[in-house]
Order: sequence, then structure tokens, then C-alpha cells
Amino acid sequence: MARTDAIVLGAGIVGTSVALHLAKRGLAVALLDRRAPGEETSYGNAGVIEGNTLFPYPFPAGFDALFRIATRRATAASYHLSFLPKLVPWLLDYRANTTVERSIVYANLMRPLFAAAVAEHEALMTEAGALRYLRKEGWLKLYRSEAAFAAAGREREVAKEFDLPHATLDRDGALALESALAPIFARAVHWPNAASVINPLAVTRAYAARFATLGGVVVNGDARSLRRADGKWRVDAKEGPIDTEDVVVALGPWTPDVLKPLGLRLPMAVKRGYHRHFKPRGNAGLTRPVVDVEFGYCVAPMEQGLRLTTGAEFAARDAPPTPVQLARLMPAANALFPLGEAIETQPWMGSRPCFADSLPVIGRAPEQPGLWLAYGHAHWGLTLGPATGRLLAEMMTGVTPFCDPGPYAAERFTR
Ligand SMILES: Cc1cc2nc3c(=O)[nH]c(=O)nc-3n(C[C@H](O)[C@H](O)[C@H](O)COP(=O)(O)OP(=O)(O)OC[C@H]3O[C@@H](n4cnc5c(N)ncnc54)[C@H](O)[C@@H]3O)c2cc1C
Repeated sequence: MARTDAIVLGAGIVGTSVALHLAKRGLAVALLDRRAPGEETSYGNAGVIEGNTLFPYPFPAGFDALFRIATRRATAASYHLSFLPKLVPWLLDYRANTTVERSIVYANLMRPLFAAAVAEHEALMTEAGALRYLRKEGWLKLYRSEAAFAAAGREREVAKEFDLPHATLDRDGALALESALAPIFARAVHWPNAASVINPLAVTRAYAARFATLGGVVVNGDARSLRRADGKWRVDAKEGPIDTEDVVVALGPWTPDVLKPLGLRLPMAVKRGYHRHFKPRGNAGLTRPVVDVEFGYCVAPMEQGLRLTTGAEFAARDAPPTPVQLARLMPAANALFPLGEAIETQPWMGSRPCFADSLPVIGRAPEQPGLWLAYGHAHWGLTLGPATGRLLAEMMTGVTPFCDPGPYAAERFTR
């Protein structure tokens, strides 16, 4: 590249969206990853673009739920015992941030980003020729018991206050939408304005290809080579060193690997998750992603088959995979969904990068001129990638941002 205005480190959905938005604004951008775009966390998610999200992912409430997790019988959450002592302060902070009052604060702070999520994806998919991956059929949450349905009542009340359409269905109403489900649930809620994609990897690849047609350059290299050199930021790509004034760190769960050596320690943890694809039984299939709320997993129709994704596992990012949750929930999943033969021999594992307040970090890095951050999107990085890309690109190019970036500033941890 003759001139590089900015380097984006990390070509997941977040970094690729940032790079594309910067290129659309005329900057000469290099997008660096050690793999090809979209192959890590952004590959393995459930594909839901959920602009209706209101509350942070809940902390298990009540003695029964905690007891099931502690005794490793829960399907929605799991943990590595040896890792828990390190995580206790973060977990306590997380719990404090998921009270009724704090959840409403979160809903208000995140609304502008979530509200933009589907439209921002659709705009990028349109220009990237990727609309064929988009499904605008909403998603369905199933409640096996009336008690579980009642327990989620607050979400529905607040959704009404925020004008987020949703339809409460009885069993027959849900079966009219998804006829392949077994009738072993009591209620369902259809969120029609959620969207989904049937191949998250292909979507990131399409955005990266669009970035390249705008003159962006995708390069291979190790982001950990980032350093200050000759008054600029320098990173070593396979093709040679690249120097720029501005660098964006969008390395998802690996972001701390680059920030720590620069003296920037923000309290990110990971919630690991697994997926596995199954062939549908016979001609059965799903039209949209479906969540089995009590058991805490999702089944989403993908080009590869029916993708079953798990809830959170609290463990060190790099510890070997332990997909026990998946094994625990398979009897429940087999009873509800038309799951045939497993497609892969081993489940896929990824790590959701999470802050205890469930907000992402989007904006300038404290006390590091020219360093920008876009990470920590937790359960909703696919949903929020394009909206994040637009917001950060607007901030970096001095355009009035489409929403107030203040709540997502890294300074909330360093002030
Ligand atoms: C099981 C599961 C289900 C999910 N379901 C959904 C869902 O339905 N909807 C939703 O919105 N979100 C979902 N998510 C969350 C979502 O997938 C993530 O929030 C999102 O993918 C994070 O994107 P990212 O770009 O920040 O990170 P990543 O996609 O992980 O990208 C980071 C990139 O950095 C690169 N990298 C790392 N280290 C280096 C290095 N040293 N040098 C160079 N490159 C490096 C990696 O190769 C990678 O490409 C789910 C997550 C999981 C695990």
C-alpha cells in the first residue's frame, strides 16, 4: 500500500465492519488477521441479529439455578472449578450489573446500537451482495412451562415500553410457525423484527470482499507485533511492516493480548460457547432460530445443517475444550427438535468477549493517541458489528456520530 491511513487488527465481524466503514469514507485501510476473515468467534455463532435485545444476559437467579450450576447439572451455564477463584471479582461485578435497575440502565444505554443493528447489516449486505444469507423471519423463544413464561414477563413489559413488537403464542401458534417442533412446550414468543443469517462466516467474508473492492487491503500477520515506532503505530504484516497514525484493535477475545503490553488492562472475561451441526430428520427443518429458554441453548437453521449453540462456559480462554454442557442438553434438544445425525465429530468452541457491565468498548483507548478500540460485544457481536463499524468510523473521521458513544468509552474503567 502506498499510503495507509489506518490499520484494523482483527478481521472478525467487528473489525471487518470497522474496516469497511473506514474504506467507505475514503481512508486507505489495512485489515490484519492471522487467519482469513471471519474464521473465529464470528464463524460459530447462532446467526441471530437481535435488535430487540433489552437486558444483559441474566446472572442465574435463585438458589435452585445456582445449585444446578454448582453441581454441574445446569445446561445453560458451566465452569472450570480451577478458574473460578480468578473470576470471582468479575462475576460479582456482573451480578451487580444485572439487577432490575441496572438492567434498565443497560437497555437504555444500548438501545441506539441495537436499534440500528438490522438496518446497518442490511445496508452492508446490500452493497456486499450478501442479502441471500439474510432471513427476516424473527426468532422464537420457547417456554416449556407456564412458570418460565411468567418469569420472562418483565422483558415483554419493557419491550412494550420500547415499542418492540412481539407476539405471545400458545403451542399451536408456535407450531404454525415451526411445524417440526415436538409439542412439548407450553408457550412461545415470536420476535418478528429480529433477523438472522444462514452463514455468518460467509457474511464476514462478503464484507471483507466489499472492503477489498473499495481499495482496502487484507493482510496476514500477528497483531501482537503492534508497537510505537518513529512517532507512529507499526505492525508487522507478512508483506512487511505497516506504519499508520491510527490503529483499531478489534481482536475480540484476544484483544487483551495486544493491550496488556501497552499497559492497558480493561476487565474483560470470556464466556466460552460451543456449537455442533446436525442433519435434519427427514424433511423436517426450521425457518428461524429457536431458543429453548429453560435449557439455555439455541437451534438455528444454517447452510451446513441445524446448528445447536450452547450458553456460557466460564473457563480460561485457552484451556482445552470441555463440551459437557452440550452432552447434558442433548436429550432435551433431541426431544424438542428434529435433530438427525451429528455432522462433525467434534463440537466447535468459541469465546465471547465480555465486560461485567455487558457494554462493549467502542472509541479511543485512554492515553494512547491514535489507538482505537472495538471489542467486548459479548453475546451480541454479530448483531452489533456493522453498527459498531459505523459508529467508530464516524468518530475516527470527525463526523457527528449517529449515537452518543459516551457509554461505550473505555474510560468508564480507568476514571
Ligand atoms: C456459541 C456462540 C453463539 C453466539 N451467537 C450469537 C448470535 O446469535 N448473535 C450475535 O450477535 N452474537 C452471537 N455470538 C457472539 C458473537 O459471535 C461475538 O460477539 C462476535 O463474533 C465477536 O466478534 P469479533 O469480531 O469481536 O471477534 P472474532 O470474530 O473472534 O474476531 C477476532 C479476530 O482476531 C484475530 N486474532 C486474534 N489474535 C490475533 C493475533 N495475535 N494476530 C492477528 N489476528 C488475531 C482472530 O483470528 C479473529 O479473526 C455468539 C457467540 C458464541 C460463542
